[in-house]
Parts: sequence; structure tokens; C-alpha cells
Amino acid sequence: MPSKPPNLVFVMSDDHAAHAISAYGSVINETPNIDRLAAEGMRFDHCYCTNSICTPSRAAILCGTYNHVNKVTTLDTPLDASLITFPKLLRAQGYQTAIFGKWHLGDAPSHRPVGFDAWEVLPGQGEYHNPEFFTPQGKTQYSGYATDIITDLSLDWLRSLPQDQPFALLCHHKAPHRPWETDAAHASMYADTTIAEPETFWDDYATRSAAAQAAKCRMMDLTETDLKAPVPAGLSEEEEISWRYQCYIKDYLRVVASIDDNLGRLLDLLADLGREHNTIVVYTSDQGFFLGEHGWFDKRFMYEESLNMPLLVRWPAQIEPSSVNDDMVVNVDFAPTFCEAAGAAVPNDWQGRSLLPLFQGETPQGWPISMYYRYWMHRDKDHEIKAHLGVRTKRHKLICFYNEPLGQPGARGPTDPVEWELYDLKADPFEVNNLYGVSGWESVTQELLLELKRLIEEVEDTPPACLGDRTA
Ligand code: CA
Repeated sequence: MPSKPPNLVFVMSDDHAAHAISAYGSVINETPNIDRLAAEGMRFDHCYCTNSICTPSRAAILCGTYNHVNKVTTLDTPLDASLITFPKLLRAQGYQTAIFGKWHLGDAPSHRPVGFDAWEVLPGQGEYHNPEFFTPQGKTQYSGYATDIITDLSLDWLRSLPQDQPFALLCHHKAPHRPWETDAAHASMYADTTIAEPETFWDDYATRSAAAQAAKCRMMDLTETDLKAPVPAGLSEEEEISWRYQCYIKDYLRVVASIDDNLGRLLDLLADLGREHNTIVVYTSDQGFFLGEHGWFDKRFMYEESLNMPLLVRWPAQIEPSSVNDDMVVNVDFAPTFCEAAGAAVPNDWQGRSLLPLFQGETPQGWPISMYYRYWMHRDKDHEIKAHLGVRTKRHKLICFYNEPLGQPGARGPTDPVEWELYDLKADPFEVNNLYGVSGWESVTQELLLELKRLIEEVEDTPPACLGDRTA
């Protein structure tokens, strides 16, 4: 336990996949400032989202609980403002607390941020250009680009703080969320480059569930608003798909470049203020994203690109530079980590585990070797992605598309037949070869099914009927 409470700068972007960060081995872009956190701190290589979508992930991060507990299961379930969150606990511990940028946990006055000395947040998804913000006084609008403005608000607040009081700043970018609108400074980046299509770009979903085939997040599902240009005449369908990918991925990477520049400004100010040493700086995203893998954009699925969260943590007082952690961690672990670092008691009903021992390079005995995932928003109106749950270990993944709306807000019928997928992530890291039902995989399937049921019991979730029927 640190003697002096550390400060916290928690930078979270929206939909920034780890594979668009050079510290994670991106082959399509460079992120020098995010990479600084990896060089000066710790990179987590197995950080996963327990429900890969904006609002639920944000609730899990604030509350330290899974979505069936905090009840923020879909995009249409706002956060109950009375729930205990880590900013509330840090504030009670004497921290100055603030959030600037994306909130996305409900726009009604009763769902605005609680537990912050200062806050200015975007309504809903917010706008990239000249965005409005909700403030404690009402509403205000700024001229400029959201990523710059959110950073400016963060820098101004940091400059205003007394030196002798700990602080927790949540700098939550709207970017790089759809529709990937760039700022002028990055508008012509990649103009003369062709970005390589990922290995699974032309996936035919041959071995997979109907859910993968039905998902409406293929390049042909991008709208003219997303593309920002009319489709050129005379292209074959294949040529058009490739053309659409270039439009999409270049804008995505331009928007990411602006986040990276602005993170640099934030890191520079911390150095100027002399507050680097005992400040925990976190860079993460609310979930991952498909960057053309399987022919898709978007998230929601339990597949790797969407499940993976980037997590980079710099804390010079406690973390060795250039360290890499290989343990399995989830977004539910963030809140107890920040509370323990601040010396605040972690509520008994929280479900995450503090990462502080991992920061020290120590993996506690009994640390999880599997994680539980559940996406509730069956056949969401935009992408038609089906309700599923599953377990991931270091080696395997078992997914059950249980395919029922179960009365969840934003989930829709009809119910579809149950389907299963099984992947060997060592032999098949891109998850194109579904092994469920394949001869020779029965015992692995049975072990994973048992582990899935154990996790459901551990986190006290209610399984769908199809899991109750399957006797172990
Ligand atoms: Ca998101």
C-alpha cells in the first residue's frame, strides 16, 4: 500500500481497439504518446470487456460489478445515480474528482454524473465538432473538436488544483466512435497510403453460427455519413467493399491520431506540474472494435478484436517501466484497483479484484484463469447482433448464442435457435474455425461448459434456459 495516496488520470476512449495502438503491435498506425505509457509503465495483454458495448462497460468500470448486478445491461439502461462508484469513494477519501467528455450513462437530469467536484459531459454520443456539454449549471457549447476540447477542460482543471490534495481525473473521449469525423490537422493523414486489409477481411463465416452471418456490421452496412463520400461509379462489389474499408479505416486512424496527440499534451502537463511520480495514468477504451476483421466494423461480439481492451498503466512510484502483464483482467477490476490505491475500503458486494499486486509484478494465488462474458442486447436495431454469453481461458473460448431478448431494454425478438461456438485460440487466433461439435473436442467442450457454469454461479448471474437444460 503506497504511503501517500496517488493521483489518478483515467483516460478512456470510445471504441479504440488495442490493435490500433503501436505498443500492442499495430501494423496500420503509430501511437507514440500511448506508447509512452507502455514504455514508462505496464502493458496488460489480457484485459477483457465483460460486455462489449459502451454504456454497460462504463457502468462496470465505475461500479466494479457485472452488468446483471448494476442493471446496465444494454445501451438503453441508464445508470442508477445512487449506486456506489469509485469516484464517489475517492471523493469521500479527500480526493478532488472530475469527469470531462463521454458519459453515456443516461441523459436525464437524474442520471447525470454524481461524485464529482467538476464535470462537463457530452449528451448521449456527443458531437465531434462544436459539441454541446451538460454541465452542473445546465448546458454549454464549445467551438472546436471534441478530443481537443475534452483535453483542454482536463488541462484547465489540473492546473487549478492545489498541490497538496490528491485528485482523480476521468478524461473520457468520444473518439474514435462512429462516425469517425476527423479534425483539420489529421484530415489528410494516410491520403497517399493504402491500409492493408486484415487477414480475415474476406471471412465467409463457413463454420460459424448464424449470428456471425446475420450481423449487420459489414463494410456494405456503412452509411454515406460514415463514408463521407459517394461510392465511385463502376466498382465491382469486391472493389466497393475494399474502397469502403479504406474510407472507414483511414478516418478511424485519423481520429485515433488526435487522441494520441492530446494524450501527449496531458502527459506533458503532468510533467510540468511535477506530478508524474505519484500519479497513476491509465489509458484504456470501453471495449475493442473490429477494424475490418471478419469483414466488420463495430463490437458487441465476444470475438477477440471486440473483447480485448487496451490497458496501459503508468505509475512511476510503483510500476517498473516497460513491464508486461500476462494475467487475465477485466473491466470490473478497475474500480477496486483505484479504491485500494486511494486507501478507500472496497465495498463487499463489488465483484472485481484489485490489480495493485499485478502492478508490483506479483500474481496472487488463485488469480482467475478464465473470464465471463455476456452480451444482452439481442438483435439490437442497428447491427442485429444476437444475445450470447461465454467463457474465455488463455487457450480456448466457448460461446453460447442463447438468442433470447429476455425483456432487456433495446433487445428485440424474435428468439432464434441456440447455437454454440468453440475456438482453439492457439491454433486459430483469428477465430475462423468453429470446433463446436467436431469429433475429438468433446472433453474440451465439457470442461469449458463446466467452467462457464462455475463462473455464472460465481458472479451470481441467472443463466438462460438453454444452459439450465445442459447437464454437466
Ligand atoms: Ca464504446
